Amino acid sequence: MKPRPSETGQNSEGGSALGQSYSLPKSYEPSTEEPKWQQWWQDKKVHRFDPSDTSRPTYSIDTPPPYPSGEFHVGNALNWSYFDFIARYKRMKGYNVHFPQGWDCNGLPTEVRAEKTHKIRKNDVPLAQFVEMCRKLTEEYIAQMKETIIRLGISSDWELEYKTMDHSYYRLTQLSFLRLYKTGHMYRGEHPVNWCPRCETAIAEAEVEREERQGSIHYLRFGEGVDSVELASTRPELLAACVAIAVHPEDPRYTKLVGKQIAVPLFQQRVKVISDSDVDSSFGTGAVMVCTFGDKMDVTWQKRHNLPVIRAISDNGHLTEAAGQFKGLRLEEARKQIVERLKHEGRLSKTETSQQNVGTCWRCHTPVEILARPQWFMGVRNMTPAVKDWTEKLHWIPPFARQRMIDWAQSLDWDWVVSRQRLFATPIPVWYCKKCGETATPSEDALPVDPRKDPSPVKKCPKCGSEDFVGEADVFDTWMDSSISSAVHAGWPNESSNFKRLFPADLQPNGFDIIRTWDYYLLVRSLALFGIPPYKTLMINGMVRGTDGRMMHKSYGNYVETEEVLRKLGADALRQWAAAGGSTGQDIPFRWADAEHGRKFLTKLWNVARFILASVPSPVSETSPAGLSLVDRWILSSTQKLIEEVSEALDGFQFNVAIEAIRNFTWHSLADNYLEAVKYRLQPEADLASREAARHCLYHAIVTVCKLVAPFCPHIAESIYQILPKKELAESVHLTIWPKPEPSVLNDNWMREGTILVEAIALGRRRKSENGMSLSAPVKKLVIAAPEASLRLLKENQETIARTLRAEQLTLEQSPPNGPGGESDMHVEIVS
Ligand SMILES: [Zn+2]
Ligand SMILES: [Zn+2]
Repeated sequence: MKPRPSETGQNSEGGSALGQSYSLPKSYEPSTEEPKWQQWWQDKKVHRFDPSDTSRPTYSIDTPPPYPSGEFHVGNALNWSYFDFIARYKRMKGYNVHFPQGWDCNGLPTEVRAEKTHKIRKNDVPLAQFVEMCRKLTEEYIAQMKETIIRLGISSDWELEYKTMDHSYYRLTQLSFLRLYKTGHMYRGEHPVNWCPRCETAIAEAEVEREERQGSIHYLRFGEGVDSVELASTRPELLAACVAIAVHPEDPRYTKLVGKQIAVPLFQQRVKVISDSDVDSSFGTGAVMVCTFGDKMDVTWQKRHNLPVIRAISDNGHLTEAAGQFKGLRLEEARKQIVERLKHEGRLSKTETSQQNVGTCWRCHTPVEILARPQWFMGVRNMTPAVKDWTEKLHWIPPFARQRMIDWAQSLDWDWVVSRQRLFATPIPVWYCKKCGETATPSEDALPVDPRKDPSPVKKCPKCGSEDFVGEADVFDTWMDSSISSAVHAGWPNESSNFKRLFPADLQPNGFDIIRTWDYYLLVRSLALFGIPPYKTLMINGMVRGTDGRMMHKSYGNYVETEEVLRKLGADALRQWAAAGGSTGQDIPFRWADAEHGRKFLTKLWNVARFILASVPSPVSETSPAGLSLVDRWILSSTQKLIEEVSEALDGFQFNVAIEAIRNFTWHSLADNYLEAVKYRLQPEADLASREAARHCLYHAIVTVCKLVAPFCPHIAESIYQILPKKELAESVHLTIWPKPEPSVLNDNWMREGTILVEAIALGRRRKSENGMSLSAPVKKLVIAAPEASLRLLKENQETIARTLRAEQLTLEQSPPNGPGGESDMHVEIVS
């Protein structure tokens, strides 16, 4: 890219990028204009981050790398539009904007798709071949999504594109792990973790969703005679894993049973009755069975009372040999058969239906189990005070989003399990000594490694001397990849001056739904690796809801594809829906009517621009010409006011405020009021000074609107900018400097007085339309009654009023007081 053009007031030829003509086509066609500019921006590298340019401050945006699913619904369009509003605004504000687009490639859904596409199970083919299948699919999905992102007019710098499945990225994920392992933040242990039996992998707490489901409570009798106890259970299929019965220490019903051994029905293992104050005496009969593991409470009790662990559920959700004759049954089937058998043996006294809060896998909605097997963890619970501290200090938009992070951090019972039992992901770079279990890690410069096929870099066990090693078969959670994104963009591990310019990221924009994952993981990883947060400002967008009021989600089938809206209405219309839908952080519905309104605005803006460009064939002079009338001063001042409002709104990330201000100004102040009020002055027979004054104001208004609307509607802004008779040398509207309000023109008096005049004209227009007359239809006589305070001003501007409303005769008179305080209203009458 050429050096950023300076914006001197020098006159240029006023040519355009794609032609020399000043006349705009009659109608604006997004379907031809938008792709044209998208290509041109790419060719001209308009959005490129310039690492060598240190004259401008940098602004780095760390956007969440999406999972390449191939789909891109309007909820995604909202996210990306938000990112882009800020990226484009900051560029025009003079920043060297760093705006990469990445892809969070690894993970289960692609594995499932690869299995379906190739009609295989993942273990049917060699690992390398399977990974290659996943990689190919991922590339296809990326290509589709990338096309949509470009068509939406997103100004990502594609030279900074990254994919977490690249070996260069594997290296960085592994490096971050090694460093955190050395500092004691990563550890391996056999702790119970959430497990999805369908995905056959451990999942983190952040990946567990809570769902209300209809379930049953079964009342079962344990033991015989005086030593028998009845208890209520929602999970009779776990009887084989029952290791104790727990009662509250102050529950008089069970005092005499505590310490006794009671036989479990069907399976006959004898379990102890323990007392624990965490037992809820009001649930069921007040006695509960402790299984390894039915829920998190069981995990606590197993540890607290040093109970044995019985593993009754297999990785894929079947009962194990621990369940004896029920071995091999799927959990639902096992539940049915066990309940039948309990009934048959007279152990089941009753069954009640109940609403249950079930933890399910966020990917496949299968109820999660709790299984214990060796896993890798990042110790995050001890970081909660630091997380809370920093979260409070960071800048959050909206501020209430901050609490979600704090609540999440404080709710964590377990550390973050970072290992996954999958294939298509970053390998965990460790080997184990087969003899003593010692962990061996490679040196940093050996990375990336794949312990699933590479030999151990350590040849002799430092602990026992054995030379026999086995590589780790597990892989990393995908959040291990994406939670170092901002450091990776900044060039880490090379902590050069560029790193300091780009890290922490200036902006972390993402949805509410990933505060507890992406924002949280980024924060803990960065605090552990660098001692500081990875971002300065978090801009959190709300969720897009479908017309049924539910969250828009692929699995609900209630989503509208971005491509559909782009096809029908174009990017600038869809982006206006995103901007105008609500304040930042608020959930908004997708409404076709809003996007259609956006499309109508484009037509209006185009018509306004055409009219102005037809009247202003060459650049106007910089200084305000003599002969400015009140209505001129009013529009000039309103234009400055608009700059102030839109800049303030964008600085505060309030896109709805900004776009509404621009649309209101264009539609009403400029088109309805000012254009109509100066039409007669643009005629060839009009007074020259008056005509020049009107041209001056029109030109400034359209140039300003063109720039202010550029972050929201980048395509139409470019279409207009390229045909404007320009004084600026910037090649693209997106390389121009954001306007600054001019204090000498932002005049409260002009605004106030101009508003009275404009109001009088508006009243006249309304009255004409009520009488079935068009604005341009001549009127014989018009009487305007106005309060005394306004009368002088209206008299001074008689000509403007009369000519705008085409009144042959205009009478201005004082209106009688009619309010309680003696104030009076303005009133317009047509006398024919
Ligand atoms: Zn799952
Ligand atoms: Zn060893």
